[in-house]
Amino acid sequence: MTTTEQLYHIYLQHPVIATDTRKITPGSMFFALKGDKFDANTFAQQALEAGAAYAVIDNAQYRANDKCLLVNDVLTALQDLARHHRRQLTIPVVGLTGTNGKTTTKELINAVLSQHFNTVATQGNLNNHIGVPLTILGITNEHKMAVIEMGANHIKEIELLCSISQPTHGLITNVGKAHLEGFGSIEGVKIAKGELYDFLAPNNGVAFINSNNPILMSMQGTRKFTAQPVFYGDQLDDLVSGEITENAPLLSLRWTNNTNGEEYSVKTQLTGAYNLDNILAAISIGLYFKLSAAEINAGIEGYQPKNNRSQVVQTATNTLICDYYNANPSSMAVAIENIGKITAARKVLILGDMFEMGAEAAAEHKGIIEKALATPVDERIFIGKEFSAQKAIAEGKAAAFYETADDAIGALKLSPIKNSTILIKGSRGMALERLVELF
Ligand code: ATP
Ligand code: MG
Repeated sequence: MTTTEQLYHIYLQHPVIATDTRKITPGSMFFALKGDKFDANTFAQQALEAGAAYAVIDNAQYRANDKCLLVNDVLTALQDLARHHRRQLTIPVVGLTGTNGKTTTKELINAVLSQHFNTVATQGNLNNHIGVPLTILGITNEHKMAVIEMGANHIKEIELLCSISQPTHGLITNVGKAHLEGFGSIEGVKIAKGELYDFLAPNNGVAFINSNNPILMSMQGTRKFTAQPVFYGDQLDDLVSGEITENAPLLSLRWTNNTNGEEYSVKTQLTGAYNLDNILAAISIGLYFKLSAAEINAGIEGYQPKNNRSQVVQTATNTLICDYYNANPSSMAVAIENIGKITAARKVLILGDMFEMGAEAAAEHKGIIEKALATPVDERIFIGKEFSAQKAIAEGKAAAFYETADDAIGALKLSPIKNSTILIKGSRGMALERLVELF
């Protein structure tokens, strides 16, 4: 069996890791992971032929030559290698988790820190038991900072990801309702996300905490956040406080460095009042690491959201808030509140079902319909079986229900929406991007 030390020795010569035979670069180390439908042991030979220097496998049957390194379990070997590499690094590692806004906050922190430091950050949404080790293994001696997104839909996942990435600094964006099937309840979500604070405290880490968030603040009751918590929010004793000055639908805000009382304005390319928290998190991390206000603002202003996470798209006739990357009750609620607050002549809500809600599905969809009905908008369109099952509560109100996106598309073709600001949000599986060409 190949040990972690032996793998590390090889990694230092071959620091590019590949897990997909279609993306092999010459000289890389191929890790033969198992997926639901495949066992990459079977691709080891192919990876070597495509130029990989070594293939790490856990089935001796596929050991074609001494370029195949046998381990007990490829995934564990990858994680152990990443943990070992992390231990050799002395740079600050900012770990973040939370129910909503992880990727956006991670990108904002990266945008800010990159103004000053050579920073490495999780690519896209690669925030799981494979993505985190791969991100860690992408850190080189050139990097001065790392920002690691950690996702979880079960208890103990963040604990594992922390043991690999060993964050010196951490941030929980918020705690809300998502993946309830795996967590059981909001209490379960608190425990799971709190594993980040649990890691930081005994390791002398620093936690950045949104003082406006009562759930996060309440988590102090059961544990010490860390040796030195840093707060952001709207209190004067927070390191940073801030407020939105325009939401139309792009946000502008004013923020204050409370250590000296200096105020700054920044125009962003983000929409969603909830993004204030994400932006303040990034500003406070920038200030904490001694960046200038000019550097911080340059990072924030330059960040353009991608992949339909609260992305504003202007078409010939409408302004779209494309937020159909994903949805859960917490992010739905804040997205609906946001459209209530933005300045726009005409507003439309198009909401698709939220998946993975388990036993809470009926109540949560009902709650979102009620929230949408209570929000001043001109049109409300609900798409999906879960929403449609609750349509009785909207009887006689300005709301349309369609079981499928195709039904909605048919109806919208007959009566197109014009001159409106339209929020489009639903779970990934609803694939609401199919509607966009209509607007
Ligand atoms: P995932 O669990 O898929 O990795 P994430 O936590 O990385 O999600 P983002 O991708 O940043 O979250 O944002 C997804 C959506 O969550 C946004 O488009 C928005 O609707 C919502 N969202 C973002 N920030 C917040 C926030 N601070 N509070 C509530 N909802 C938010
Ligand atoms: Mg994410």
